[in-house]
Amino acid sequence: MDKKIIKKEYDSKVKLLIKYDKFYYENSDPKVSDKEYDDLKKEILKLEKKYPDLKSDYSPSKKVGHKPSKNFKKDFHRVPMLSLANAFTENDLINFEKKINNYLSKSDSYKIFYSAEPKIDGISASLTYKNGKLEKGLSRGDGKEGEDITNNLKTISDIPHNINSKDFPEEIDIRGEVFIKNSEFKNLKEKFANPRNAASGSLRQKNPEDTKKIPLNFIAYTYGFEKGLNIKNQSDFLEKLNEWGFKTNSLNKLISGVKNLILNYNEIEKQRANLDFDIDGIVYKINDFDIQKRLGNIANAPRWAIAHKFSSSKGISEILDIDIQVGRTGALTPVAKIKPINIGGVIVSNATLHNEDEINRKDIRIGDTAVIERAGDVIPHILSVDKQKRPKNSKKFIFPKNCPSCGSETIKEFNKVTKKVDAVRRCSSEGYYCDKISIEKLKHFVSKEAFNIDGFGKKIVENFWKLKLIKYPQDIFNLDFSKIENLEGWGKLSVQNLKYSIDQKKNISLERFIYSLGIRHIGLENAKLLSKHFVSFSKFKNLSKQIDYEDMLNIDGIGETQVSSIKSFFSNKANKNVINKLENVLLIKDAVQNSDDGLLNNKTFLVTGKLNGISRAEVKSLIEENSGKTISSVSKKLNFLIIGEKPTKKKVDYAKQLKIKVIDQAEFLKMLNKST
Ligand code: NAD
Repeated sequence: MDKKIIKKEYDSKVKLLIKYDKFYYENSDPKVSDKEYDDLKKEILKLEKKYPDLKSDYSPSKKVGHKPSKNFKKDFHRVPMLSLANAFTENDLINFEKKINNYLSKSDSYKIFYSAEPKIDGISASLTYKNGKLEKGLSRGDGKEGEDITNNLKTISDIPHNINSKDFPEEIDIRGEVFIKNSEFKNLKEKFANPRNAASGSLRQKNPEDTKKIPLNFIAYTYGFEKGLNIKNQSDFLEKLNEWGFKTNSLNKLISGVKNLILNYNEIEKQRANLDFDIDGIVYKINDFDIQKRLGNIANAPRWAIAHKFSSSKGISEILDIDIQVGRTGALTPVAKIKPINIGGVIVSNATLHNEDEINRKDIRIGDTAVIERAGDVIPHILSVDKQKRPKNSKKFIFPKNCPSCGSETIKEFNKVTKKVDAVRRCSSEGYYCDKISIEKLKHFVSKEAFNIDGFGKKIVENFWKLKLIKYPQDIFNLDFSKIENLEGWGKLSVQNLKYSIDQKKNISLERFIYSLGIRHIGLENAKLLSKHFVSFSKFKNLSKQIDYEDMLNIDGIGETQVSSIKSFFSNKANKNVINKLENVLLIKDAVQNSDDGLLNNKTFLVTGKLNGISRAEVKSLIEENSGKTISSVSKKLNFLIIGEKPTKKKVDYAKQLKIKVIDQAEFLKMLNKST
């Protein structure tokens, strides 16, 4: 590949990483998960390894944290505050130990003792004591310079202001972690994604009075600059910290041998969900200070320590309960309520168990200790349970035979196509009889690809349902706005906006209308096929004769499963009633017959970023109505990249590289002779 292109790619990745750092370190509001961040970092390091001359001063291999915020006075650390190298596997630890032995010129049998300390996921702070008096407190910042947060740190009751012990050094920077307990985080979880961000956000308030309101804790674990420290190793130092009045971690241990480090790691990982503080791994520090000094530091981390991180996609926790959720199509989905656990920066407290068969196959029970996986955007799920740790009185989980919402019988259908009994159990009630199904149907009705009513999201559906303002889709178009105006959180203006958004959507295409009904097996694509087939709403609505159903089988893409689902939908009185009522309030447009000579014939499009007042789904329909096509990624096949607000830079850059036309919303609409 061209060197210029590689350099460009490298620079844009580094720039993105710095942007993520700013959100994480300065704003305490990460924009991506830790896994995504770590993956990007790995990509940068891989590029640097392959092309060493790319390495910039901003490389993650050189820098620590992020520059101090302008909101605080800055000050230099007399001894830099570094980051830690990471290990993920036993092999990484073996290599770490080997490198140390090589460096010290020792044989592999040389016994190294480590201080193994749970790595609390908070933010570090450095406290400068002179003659036993706390003089200054700094955040880590970029390692060289930190934010002066002395007054905020002084509000933390774990931090002594005066130390009178005789052997307390004349001058010393005591370093440790500021964190928030998980039990306290519960009250802050609306504001912050995880306890680490909560601690960072709370500690770095402009006004110390605001910091004081939040119960922060401090545990000490190391020192920076010192004058008069007479201690030879880390484990003795940790003991001394206690004597001097600091809190240290009771799970700290002195260990030798990689095998024993792994045993300790596994043991602590199992205890993790029961601890009242969040940890993201175990730090191993060579115990002997003389050896530490000999080993020294690399650019951004000490050579004598390593953080053995927990997986950013898996965690171990306890199943507290199993909840059965009822979906729009009546499917009963078991969900495990678990003791909250931090997986890659995201607090997970629910994990799907998929269906009854999955529970039986894995014999998952309430009270079990389970491995939970959370990868990418996938809903967290239970990978396995530890039967050895199962409580003696545990009972097999019996899946309910009746719907937990309406009490109707639950059934497992026989799938004619696969000739198998479905794994999913469903509520047998039809239409709007079951409350849970009904609410889910309404959520689907207002969703993005369906009616896409601005400002009418899932929460509002639930709220209006509880207040008995809506039960059927048609109720959305007959809302009593005077009642809503008096509800908490609503006012004249917001009600006016809601009314406007609803009125706007009274004019709807047949395909969206069909999709919004939430007929099982009729997703977006099938709704499109049906709308093309029926063309008008009246034809679709009067669908009743056997011959009509048989005719549907001729549609390419529609099979028996879909037809029988539509049949069962229309055989239900409540559904028919909904359609009739909706007909009275809506204007359902006939399907536009696509021709091959539309304005966008033979042209392909892709959208990136947020468009103004028009959804992606609507743009897609517009393109297709005009004989164009949308594709899902930038490639040579693409003719136009439409960019909205905050487009994905990677896509724009790549499109430019391929000389693809990049246009904005106005230019796109102009192609259709429309204005914004
Ligand atoms: P780090 O947090 O992984 O390790 C260094 C830190 O460990 C120290 O500064 C200290 O605060 C802490 N620590 C806890 N207990 C300790 C102990 N006993 N001894 C020594 N140190 C101890 O390194 P880092 O460079 O601060 O941060 C990297 C992490 O932050 C990664 O996991 C990354 O995923 C995450 N991050 C995420 C985002 C995002 O946008 N999601 C952005 C930046 C960083």
